[in-house]
Amino acid sequence: MLIVGNWKMYGLAGGVGEARALASALDTAPTAARIGLCPPALLIARLVAAVAGSKLSIGGQDCHALSEGAYTGDLSAEMLGDAGATLVILGHSERRAGHGETDQIVAGKVNGALRAGLMPIVCVGETLEQRQAGGAEAVVTAQVVGSLPDSVAEADFAIAYEPVWAIGSGLTPTPAEIEAMHAAIRETLASRFSGAGRKIPILYGGSVKPANAAELLHLNEVGGALVGGASLKAKDFEAIIRAA
Ligand code: PEP
Repeated sequence: MLIVGNWKMYGLAGGVGEARALASALDTAPTAARIGLCPPALLIARLVAAVAGSKLSIGGQDCHALSEGAYTGDLSAEMLGDAGATLVILGHSERRAGHGETDQIVAGKVNGALRAGLMPIVCVGETLEQRQAGGAEAVVTAQVVGSLPDSVAEADFAIAYEPVWAIGSGLTPTPAEIEAMHAAIRETLASRFSGAGRKIPILYGGSVKPANAAELLHLNEVGGALVGGASLKAKDFEAIIRAA
């Protein structure tokens, strides 16, 4: 089980205290899950220092495909790693929609993350229009295929299925819809990576809260969660982790 918090563009210096509170709660939380927290990049080094020695891994929310270059404002995976990050969220729908990230661009970033020794968490998900048109599984499995470069075959990585319409909306798919999509993703991974494809964690993301976490995290083929809003407060995120 892998549970990762995505702070998005929220969090100033006060966020360090939330991360510290979460890290100390995890010292006593009876969980075998791997736990990650992805703050805005400027907080990575501070959170890494604040939670050193705890079960909490710190990650980035995006990276450039290349290790360095004339790319004003961008950060490479090596830079995230240098700050102490060990994982990175890639291809989040907010970046696909707001920054024009295609599957091909995401695949390049996955290569960059692996080169730098970071664990990529590759996000996929359909829009409401795509679901209503009956094409959700085809859209999502095509994103899985297109966003994963061959270099990922032997690597430690995860997929996060996040229906775009469920992110930050308070809406979630039905349990049957989540299980059907995770099964389709599993078959796609197994046909590409055979035995190894059966072990890749497939996280669910989209309005995971303390109140629905237990149900969502125990569905078939749900190997964890990517949590946005509810990861901002240590108490809420801890409750989700305890539900695993
Ligand atoms: C996310 O940003 O990846 C996400 C799932 O957000 P939320 O949990 O707030 O829906």
